[in-house]
Amino acid sequence: MSVRDDCRCFRCKSREVSVRRGRRSVTVLLPSGRRRVIEVPAPCHRCSACGCSWQDPEQARAVDEAVAVARGGAAPSVIRAARREHRLTQRQLARKSGVAVRRIGAIERVDTFATPDEDHAIREALGLRARRVRVS
Ligand SMILES: [Zn+2]
Repeated sequence: MSVRDDCRCFRCKSREVSVRRGRRSVTVLLPSGRRRVIEVPAPCHRCSACGCSWQDPEQARAVDEAVAVARGGAAPSVIRAARREHRLTQRQLARKSGVAVRRIGAIERVDTFATPDEDHAIREALGLRARRVRVS
């Protein structure tokens, strides 16, 4: 348990908030149809003034990223960073990779997961090292 003074309770605004570093299991459905259980960090915040507890709001995004990677795809944040490094708009990356621009946006936001074909095409277009889809 550690006390972070930059953190306030969302309910009573108290600064008496502690963060417990926990982990939880997430079941990932792989493109192959198999399932794989991965462990993700799940810090839990607790206010000692009012007793309420909540998850880190950033956590949902981190879990989505972990799931995308567990499925064998490039991390969405890596795709976005590489695209910007190449000074490409989503539209330009779409043209270069052959993946629809709406799909590129959704994949970067982790609204959806890239199919293995889309992942391959995006990696090729961005020069990201291909990773073999691990089926375990
Ligand atoms: Zn509180």
